[in-house]
Amino acid sequence: GGGRVVIVGGGYGGTTCARYLRRLNPKIEVLLVEPDARYTSCPFSNLMLAGIEPLPELRHDYRSLQDDHGVRVIHDCAVGIDTDIQVVKLASGAWLTYDRAVFSPGISFMWDSPVGYSRDTVTAMPHAWKAGRQTRILRDQLRAMDDGGVVAIAVPPKPFRCPPGPYERAGLIAWYLKQHKPRSKVLILDGNETFSKQDVFEEAWAQLYPGMIERVGVSGYGAVTRVDPATNTLFTETDRHRVDVANVIPSQQAGRIALETGLADNSGWCPIDPHTFESSQLPKVHVIGDASIAYPIPKSASAANSEAKLCALAIVALLADEAPPPASLHNTCYSMAAPDYGFSVNGIYDVRDGKINAIDRAGGVSPLAAPASVRAQEARHAHDWYASIVRDSFG
Ligand code: FAD
Repeated sequence: GGGRVVIVGGGYGGTTCARYLRRLNPKIEVLLVEPDARYTSCPFSNLMLAGIEPLPELRHDYRSLQDDHGVRVIHDCAVGIDTDIQVVKLASGAWLTYDRAVFSPGISFMWDSPVGYSRDTVTAMPHAWKAGRQTRILRDQLRAMDDGGVVAIAVPPKPFRCPPGPYERAGLIAWYLKQHKPRSKVLILDGNETFSKQDVFEEAWAQLYPGMIERVGVSGYGAVTRVDPATNTLFTETDRHRVDVANVIPSQQAGRIALETGLADNSGWCPIDPHTFESSQLPKVHVIGDASIAYPIPKSASAANSEAKLCALAIVALLADEAPPPASLHNTCYSMAAPDYGFSVNGIYDVRDGKINAIDRAGGVSPLAAPASVRAQEARHAHDWYASIVRDSFG
Protein backbone atom coordinates (compact mmCIF):
# COMPACT_ATOMS: atom_id res chain seq x y z
CA GLY A 1 0.00 0.00 0.00
CA GLY A 2 0.93 3.64 -0.27
CA GLY A 3 -0.48 6.61 1.57
CA ARG A 4 -0.10 10.33 1.37
CA VAL A 5 2.56 12.45 3.09
CA VAL A 6 2.50 16.25 3.16
CA ILE A 7 5.86 17.87 3.86
CA VAL A 8 6.08 21.50 4.94
CA GLY A 9 9.37 23.25 4.13
CA GLY A 10 11.70 22.61 1.19
CA GLY A 11 15.04 23.10 2.96
CA TYR A 12 17.60 20.42 3.76
CA GLY A 13 15.21 18.45 5.99
CA GLY A 14 12.05 18.60 3.87
CA THR A 15 13.65 17.84 0.50
CA THR A 16 15.64 14.87 1.83
CA CYS A 17 12.55 13.43 3.47
CA ALA A 18 10.53 13.84 0.24
CA ARG A 19 13.20 12.19 -1.85
CA TYR A 20 13.76 9.24 0.49
CA LEU A 21 10.06 8.56 0.96
CA ARG A 22 9.71 8.23 -2.82
CA ARG A 23 12.82 6.05 -3.04
CA LEU A 24 11.76 3.77 -0.20
CA ASN A 25 8.20 3.33 -1.43
CA PRO A 26 7.22 4.81 -4.81
CA LYS A 27 3.56 4.08 -4.01
CA ILE A 28 3.59 6.84 -1.41
CA GLU A 29 2.28 10.14 -2.72
CA VAL A 30 4.52 12.97 -1.51
CA LEU A 31 3.49 16.63 -1.54
CA LEU A 32 6.12 19.22 -0.67
CA VAL A 33 4.92 22.71 0.33
CA GLU A 34 7.50 25.49 -0.03
CA PRO A 35 6.82 29.16 -0.85
CA ASP A 36 10.06 29.90 -2.71
CA ALA A 37 10.86 28.73 -6.25
CA ARG A 38 14.52 28.52 -5.26
CA TYR A 39 16.22 27.69 -2.01
CA THR A 40 19.44 29.47 -0.96
CA SER A 41 21.86 27.38 1.06
CA CYS A 42 23.24 28.69 4.34
CA PRO A 43 26.07 26.13 4.18
CA PHE A 44 28.86 27.77 2.18
CA SER A 45 27.20 31.21 2.40
CA ASN A 46 30.02 32.36 4.73
CA LEU A 47 32.42 31.82 1.83
CA MET A 48 30.19 33.93 -0.37
CA LEU A 49 30.19 36.89 1.96
CA ALA A 50 33.99 36.75 2.24
CA GLY A 51 34.21 36.83 -1.56
CA ILE A 52 35.92 33.43 -1.81
CA GLU A 53 36.14 31.93 -5.31
CA PRO A 54 35.43 29.51 -6.81
CA LEU A 55 32.16 29.18 -4.98
CA PRO A 56 29.74 26.33 -5.63
CA GLU A 57 26.13 27.21 -6.53
CA LEU A 58 24.19 28.20 -3.40
CA ARG A 59 20.76 28.29 -5.04
CA HIS A 60 18.83 25.14 -5.78
CA ASP A 61 15.45 24.58 -7.39
CA TYR A 62 12.86 21.83 -7.00
CA ARG A 63 12.76 20.65 -10.61
CA SER A 64 14.59 17.37 -10.07
CA LEU A 65 12.44 16.47 -7.07
CA GLN A 66 9.39 17.03 -9.22
CA ASP A 67 10.56 15.59 -12.56
CA ASP A 68 12.95 12.81 -11.52
CA HIS A 69 11.53 11.74 -8.17
CA GLY A 70 7.80 12.21 -8.54
CA VAL A 71 7.40 14.66 -5.66
CA ARG A 72 4.48 17.06 -6.10
CA VAL A 73 5.97 20.45 -5.28
CA ILE A 74 3.45 23.11 -4.28
CA HIS A 75 4.76 26.68 -4.09
CA ASP A 76 2.60 27.95 -1.27
CA CYS A 77 2.82 28.58 2.46
CA ALA A 78 1.36 26.31 5.14
CA VAL A 79 -0.76 28.38 7.53
CA GLY A 80 -2.38 25.75 9.74
CA ILE A 81 -3.09 22.13 10.46
CA ASP A 82 -6.17 20.24 11.62
CA THR A 83 -5.12 16.93 13.14
CA ASP A 84 -8.73 15.70 13.58
CA ILE A 85 -9.42 15.62 9.87
CA GLN A 86 -5.70 15.39 8.95
CA VAL A 87 -5.32 18.40 6.68
CA VAL A 88 -2.60 20.99 6.19
CA LYS A 89 -4.06 24.37 5.26
CA LEU A 90 -2.32 26.63 2.77
CA ALA A 91 -2.29 30.41 2.35
CA SER A 92 -4.03 30.04 -1.02
CA GLY A 93 -6.99 28.47 0.79
CA ALA A 94 -6.23 24.92 -0.39
CA TRP A 95 -6.45 22.01 2.07
CA LEU A 96 -4.11 19.06 1.69
CA THR A 97 -5.17 15.81 3.35
CA TYR A 98 -2.44 13.54 4.72
CA ASP A 99 -1.87 10.19 6.35
CA ARG A 100 1.33 11.61 7.85
CA ALA A 101 2.67 15.18 7.82
CA VAL A 102 6.31 16.27 8.18
CA PHE A 103 7.32 19.79 9.22
CA SER A 104 10.82 21.07 8.51
CA PRO A 105 10.25 24.84 8.65
CA GLY A 106 13.69 25.77 10.01
CA ILE A 107 14.00 28.73 12.39
CA SER A 108 12.36 32.05 13.06
CA PHE A 109 13.92 35.04 14.82
CA MET A 110 12.93 36.41 18.19
CA TRP A 111 12.53 40.09 17.49
CA ASP A 112 13.64 42.51 20.19
CA SER A 113 16.26 39.99 21.34
CA PRO A 114 18.57 41.88 21.53
CA VAL A 115 16.36 44.85 22.38
CA GLY A 116 15.95 47.18 19.41
CA TYR A 117 16.57 44.45 16.81
CA SER A 118 13.56 44.04 14.54
CA ARG A 119 12.40 43.39 10.99
CA ASP A 120 13.09 47.07 10.34
CA THR A 121 16.74 46.89 11.37
CA VAL A 122 17.89 43.84 9.40
CA THR A 123 19.17 45.98 6.53
CA ALA A 124 21.23 48.27 8.75
CA MET A 125 22.46 45.35 10.88
CA PRO A 126 22.14 42.21 8.76
CA HIS A 127 21.92 38.83 10.50
CA ALA A 128 22.68 36.82 7.35
CA TRP A 129 21.37 33.78 9.25
CA LYS A 130 18.97 32.99 6.44
CA ALA A 131 21.01 33.05 3.26
CA GLY A 132 20.29 35.08 0.15
CA ARG A 133 19.58 38.81 0.21
CA GLN A 134 20.85 39.11 3.79
CA THR A 135 24.19 37.51 2.85
CA ARG A 136 24.64 40.00 0.01
CA ILE A 137 23.84 42.96 2.28
CA LEU A 138 26.50 41.89 4.77
CA ARG A 139 29.03 41.25 1.99
CA ASP A 140 28.38 44.70 0.51
CA GLN A 141 28.83 46.36 3.90
CA LEU A 142 32.19 44.59 4.30
CA ARG A 143 33.25 45.76 0.84
CA ALA A 144 32.21 49.34 1.54
CA MET A 145 33.99 49.54 4.91
CA ASP A 146 37.21 51.57 5.19
CA ASP A 147 40.49 49.96 6.23
CA GLY A 148 40.87 50.12 10.01
CA GLY A 149 37.18 49.47 10.67
CA VAL A 150 35.64 47.11 13.21
CA VAL A 151 33.28 44.32 12.16
CA ALA A 152 31.25 43.00 15.10
CA ILE A 153 29.48 39.65 15.18
CA ALA A 154 26.85 39.37 17.93
CA VAL A 155 26.27 35.70 18.80
CA PRO A 156 22.93 34.78 20.42
CA PRO A 157 22.56 32.44 23.38
CA LYS A 158 22.30 28.72 22.55
CA PRO A 159 20.51 26.95 21.01
CA PHE A 160 20.82 28.43 17.55
CA ARG A 161 21.16 27.13 13.99
CA CYS A 162 24.69 26.02 13.13
CA PRO A 163 26.70 26.27 16.39
CA PRO A 164 30.12 26.71 14.66
CA GLY A 165 28.67 29.15 12.07
CA PRO A 166 29.46 32.50 13.75
CA TYR A 167 33.08 31.46 14.31
CA GLU A 168 33.54 30.21 10.78
CA ARG A 169 32.19 33.58 9.68
CA ALA A 170 34.65 35.46 11.92
CA GLY A 171 37.63 33.65 10.39
CA LEU A 172 36.49 34.07 6.81
CA ILE A 173 35.76 37.76 7.31
CA ALA A 174 39.28 38.10 8.75
CA TRP A 175 40.59 36.33 5.65
CA TYR A 176 38.91 38.98 3.50
CA LEU A 177 40.05 41.88 5.69
CA LYS A 178 43.65 40.65 5.83
CA GLN A 179 43.92 40.94 2.05
CA HIS A 180 41.93 44.10 1.44
CA LYS A 181 41.77 46.07 4.72
CA PRO A 182 44.56 44.70 6.93
CA ARG A 183 44.21 47.27 9.73
CA SER A 184 40.63 46.19 10.41
CA LYS A 185 39.40 43.95 13.23
CA VAL A 186 36.69 41.40 13.95
CA LEU A 187 35.02 41.64 17.36
CA ILE A 188 32.91 38.67 18.49
CA LEU A 189 30.42 39.59 21.21
CA ASP A 190 29.16 36.29 22.50
CA GLY A 191 26.20 35.28 24.67
CA ASN A 192 27.95 31.97 25.43
CA GLU A 193 31.11 31.01 27.28
CA THR A 194 32.36 28.18 25.08
CA PHE A 195 31.72 27.15 21.51
CA SER A 196 31.91 24.31 19.00
CA LYS A 197 35.43 23.29 17.88
CA GLN A 198 36.75 26.18 19.99
CA ASP A 199 40.36 24.97 20.38
CA VAL A 200 40.77 24.34 16.67
CA PHE A 201 39.18 27.67 15.74
CA GLU A 202 41.37 29.61 18.18
CA GLU A 203 44.49 27.83 16.98
CA ALA A 204 43.60 28.68 13.37
CA TRP A 205 42.92 32.34 14.15
CA ALA A 206 46.21 32.70 16.04
CA GLN A 207 48.11 31.20 13.09
CA LEU A 208 46.32 32.97 10.27
CA TYR A 209 45.13 36.28 11.70
CA PRO A 210 47.21 37.18 14.75
CA GLY A 211 45.66 40.11 16.64
CA MET A 212 42.77 40.51 14.21
CA ILE A 213 39.99 38.59 15.99
CA GLU A 214 38.91 39.45 19.52
CA ARG A 215 36.18 37.52 21.33
CA VAL A 216 34.37 38.39 24.53
CA GLY A 217 32.40 35.53 26.11
CA VAL A 218 29.43 35.75 28.44
CA SER A 219 31.55 35.88 31.62
CA GLY A 220 33.20 39.02 30.21
CA TYR A 221 29.73 40.44 29.57
CA GLY A 222 30.01 39.77 25.84
CA ALA A 223 26.29 39.17 25.36
CA VAL A 224 24.70 41.94 23.29
CA THR A 225 21.55 43.05 25.09
CA ARG A 226 20.55 46.08 23.02
CA VAL A 227 21.31 47.60 19.64
CA ASP A 228 20.99 51.07 18.16
CA PRO A 229 20.94 50.81 14.37
CA ALA A 230 20.97 54.59 13.89
CA THR A 231 24.51 54.81 15.30
CA ASN A 232 25.61 51.21 14.62
CA THR A 233 26.07 50.66 18.34
CA LEU A 234 25.95 47.37 20.24
CA PHE A 235 25.35 47.47 23.98
CA THR A 236 26.42 44.82 26.46
CA GLU A 237 25.73 44.97 30.18
CA THR A 238 29.00 46.84 30.76
CA ASP A 239 30.04 48.39 27.46
CA ARG A 240 28.99 50.06 24.29
CA HIS A 241 30.66 49.29 20.96
CA ARG A 242 30.20 51.69 18.09
CA VAL A 243 31.28 49.62 15.08
CA ASP A 244 31.55 49.91 11.30
CA VAL A 245 29.73 46.72 10.37
CA ALA A 246 27.33 45.04 12.81
CA ASN A 247 26.35 41.46 12.05
CA VAL A 248 23.68 40.86 14.67
CA ILE A 249 22.46 37.27 14.90
CA PRO A 250 19.25 37.41 16.95
CA SER A 251 17.92 34.75 19.34
CA GLN A 252 16.13 31.93 17.58
CA GLN A 253 13.17 29.59 17.85
CA ALA A 254 11.41 27.11 15.59
CA GLY A 255 9.89 28.37 12.33
CA ARG A 256 6.74 30.44 12.84
CA ILE A 257 4.35 27.77 11.55
CA ALA A 258 5.60 25.39 14.28
CA LEU A 259 4.75 28.00 16.92
CA GLU A 260 1.34 28.76 15.43
CA THR A 261 0.26 25.11 15.12
CA GLY A 262 1.28 24.12 18.65
CA LEU A 263 4.13 21.89 17.51
CA ALA A 264 6.54 23.94 19.64
CA ASP A 265 6.52 23.88 23.45
CA ASN A 266 7.38 26.72 25.84
CA SER A 267 11.04 26.52 24.86
CA GLY A 268 10.10 27.69 21.35
CA TRP A 269 11.29 24.39 19.84
CA CYS A 270 9.43 21.17 18.96
CA PRO A 271 9.64 18.11 21.22
CA ILE A 272 9.67 14.79 19.34
CA ASP A 273 9.90 11.05 19.88
CA PRO A 274 13.49 10.40 18.76
CA HIS A 275 12.64 6.94 17.36
CA THR A 276 10.47 8.46 14.63
CA PHE A 277 10.67 12.26 15.01
CA GLU A 278 6.90 12.21 15.50
CA SER A 279 5.76 15.26 17.44
CA SER A 280 5.10 14.80 21.17
CA GLN A 281 2.36 17.42 20.80
CA LEU A 282 0.43 16.48 17.63
CA PRO A 283 -0.30 12.90 16.44
CA LYS A 284 0.86 11.75 12.98
CA VAL A 285 2.86 14.95 12.51
CA HIS A 286 6.67 14.71 12.44
CA VAL A 287 9.14 17.54 12.99
CA ILE A 288 12.70 17.36 11.68
CA GLY A 289 15.63 19.71 11.18
CA ASP A 290 16.39 22.88 13.12
CA ALA A 291 12.83 23.20 14.48
CA SER A 292 13.00 19.91 16.41
CA ILE A 293 14.54 19.28 19.83
CA ALA A 294 17.18 16.68 19.00
CA TYR A 295 19.78 17.59 21.61
CA PRO A 296 22.69 16.60 21.70
CA ILE A 297 22.56 16.67 17.90
CA PRO A 298 23.35 20.21 16.74
CA LYS A 299 21.08 22.15 14.39
CA SER A 300 22.80 21.59 11.06
CA ALA A 301 21.99 20.70 7.46
CA SER A 302 23.84 17.45 7.98
CA ALA A 303 21.65 16.61 10.99
CA ALA A 304 18.45 17.67 9.18
CA ASN A 305 19.41 15.32 6.34
CA SER A 306 20.04 12.43 8.73
CA GLU A 307 16.81 13.07 10.68
CA ALA A 308 14.89 13.24 7.40
CA LYS A 309 16.07 9.78 6.40
CA LEU A 310 15.23 8.31 9.80
CA CYS A 311 11.82 9.96 9.61
CA ALA A 312 11.21 8.62 6.07
CA LEU A 313 12.10 5.08 7.19
CA ALA A 314 9.79 5.39 10.18
CA ILE A 315 6.89 6.74 8.11
CA VAL A 316 7.20 3.97 5.51
CA ALA A 317 7.01 1.41 8.34
CA LEU A 318 4.16 3.17 10.18
CA LEU A 319 2.06 3.48 7.00
CA ALA A 320 2.47 -0.28 6.52
CA ASP A 321 1.53 -0.93 10.19
CA GLU A 322 5.04 -2.13 10.92
CA ALA A 323 7.43 -1.20 13.71
CA PRO A 324 9.94 1.53 12.75
CA PRO A 325 13.57 0.38 12.50
CA PRO A 326 16.06 1.22 15.30
CA ALA A 327 17.13 4.85 15.24
CA SER A 328 20.60 5.75 14.02
CA LEU A 329 21.64 9.33 13.33
CA HIS A 330 24.79 11.22 12.47
CA ASN A 331 26.15 14.71 12.07
CA THR A 332 29.21 16.08 10.27
CA CYS A 333 29.96 19.79 10.33
CA TYR A 334 32.86 21.19 8.38
CA SER A 335 34.13 24.68 9.10
CA MET A 336 36.72 26.77 7.34
CA ALA A 337 39.09 29.38 8.70
CA ALA A 338 40.44 30.16 5.22
CA PRO A 339 39.72 28.73 1.76
CA ASP A 340 42.39 26.06 2.21
CA TYR A 341 42.00 25.57 5.96
CA GLY A 342 39.18 23.23 7.03
CA PHE A 343 38.32 21.09 10.05
CA SER A 344 35.30 19.14 11.23
CA VAL A 345 33.28 17.67 14.05
CA ASN A 346 31.49 14.33 13.77
CA GLY A 347 28.95 12.54 15.91
CA ILE A 348 27.05 9.24 15.65
CA TYR A 349 23.92 8.80 17.72
CA ASP A 350 21.45 6.14 18.80
CA VAL A 351 18.44 6.30 21.11
CA ARG A 352 18.60 4.93 24.67
CA ASP A 353 15.85 5.20 27.27
CA GLY A 354 13.91 7.45 24.92
CA LYS A 355 16.78 9.92 24.63
CA ILE A 356 19.24 10.67 21.86
CA ASN A 357 22.66 9.45 22.89
CA ALA A 358 26.05 10.33 21.37
CA ILE A 359 27.93 7.07 20.95
CA ASP A 360 31.21 7.16 22.85
CA ARG A 361 34.37 7.51 20.80
CA ALA A 362 32.40 7.43 17.53
CA GLY A 363 33.26 10.76 15.98
CA GLY A 364 35.14 13.71 17.47
CA VAL A 365 36.87 16.88 16.38
CA SER A 366 39.83 17.36 13.99
CA PRO A 367 43.12 17.35 15.93
CA LEU A 368 45.04 20.41 17.05
CA ALA A 369 48.48 21.11 15.55
CA ALA A 370 47.66 19.31 12.30
CA PRO A 371 49.95 20.01 9.32
CA ALA A 372 48.72 22.46 6.66
CA SER A 373 48.23 19.57 4.23
CA VAL A 374 45.61 18.02 6.55
CA ARG A 375 43.74 21.32 6.88
CA ALA A 376 43.83 21.73 3.09
CA GLN A 377 42.51 18.21 2.64
CA GLU A 378 39.64 18.86 5.05
CA ALA A 379 38.79 22.04 3.14
CA ARG A 380 38.48 19.89 -0.01
CA HIS A 381 36.35 17.42 1.93
CA ALA A 382 34.05 20.29 2.90
CA HIS A 383 33.44 21.00 -0.79
CA ASP A 384 32.77 17.30 -1.42
CA TRP A 385 30.38 17.19 1.53
CA TYR A 386 28.47 20.15 0.15
CA ALA A 387 28.19 18.67 -3.37
CA SER A 388 26.96 15.39 -1.95
CA ILE A 389 24.39 16.80 0.48
CA VAL A 390 22.92 19.02 -2.25
CA ARG A 391 22.45 15.97 -4.49
CA ASP A 392 21.06 13.93 -1.62
CA SER A 393 18.49 16.63 -0.82
CA PHE A 394 17.55 18.37 -4.05
CA GLY A 395 18.30 15.41 -6.35
P1 FAD B 1 15.77 25.22 6.34
O1 FAD B 1 16.89 24.68 5.52
O2 FAD B 1 15.85 26.60 6.84
O3 FAD B 1 14.45 25.05 5.48
C1 FAD B 1 13.22 25.52 5.94
C2 FAD B 1 12.31 25.73 4.74
O4 FAD B 1 10.96 25.81 5.19
C3 FAD B 1 12.60 27.03 3.99
O5 FAD B 1 12.82 26.76 2.62
C4 FAD B 1 11.34 27.88 4.21
O6 FAD B 1 11.01 28.68 3.09
C5 FAD B 1 10.28 26.79 4.46
N1 FAD B 1 9.13 27.22 5.25
C6 FAD B 1 9.13 27.89 6.42
N2 FAD B 1 7.87 28.10 6.83
C7 FAD B 1 7.06 27.52 5.92
C8 FAD B 1 5.64 27.41 5.80
N3 FAD B 1 4.82 27.94 6.70
N4 FAD B 1 5.14 26.73 4.72
C9 FAD B 1 5.98 26.19 3.78
N5 FAD B 1 7.32 26.30 3.87
C10 FAD B 1 7.86 26.95 4.91
N6 FAD B 1 24.81 23.20 8.36
C11 FAD B 1 25.71 22.23 8.02
O7 FAD B 1 25.43 21.04 8.15
N7 FAD B 1 26.93 22.56 7.51
C12 FAD B 1 27.31 23.84 7.33
O8 FAD B 1 28.43 24.10 6.86
C13 FAD B 1 26.39 24.88 7.69
N8 FAD B 1 26.74 26.17 7.53
C14 FAD B 1 25.86 27.14 7.91
C15 FAD B 1 26.26 28.47 7.80
C16 FAD B 1 25.41 29.50 8.18
C17 FAD B 1 25.85 30.94 8.05
C18 FAD B 1 24.12 29.18 8.68
C19 FAD B 1 23.17 30.27 9.09
C20 FAD B 1 23.72 27.86 8.80
C21 FAD B 1 24.57 26.83 8.41
N9 FAD B 1 24.22 25.49 8.54
C22 FAD B 1 25.12 24.50 8.21
C23 FAD B 1 22.91 25.11 9.15
C24 FAD B 1 21.83 24.78 8.12
O9 FAD B 1 21.61 25.84 7.24
C25 FAD B 1 20.51 24.44 8.81
O10 FAD B 1 20.74 23.62 9.92
C26 FAD B 1 19.58 23.72 7.83
O11 FAD B 1 19.25 24.60 6.78
C27 FAD B 1 18.33 23.19 8.54
O12 FAD B 1 17.42 22.63 7.62
P2 FAD B 1 15.85 22.74 7.87
O13 FAD B 1 15.21 21.90 6.82
O14 FAD B 1 15.54 22.50 9.29
O15 FAD B 1 15.53 24.29 7.63
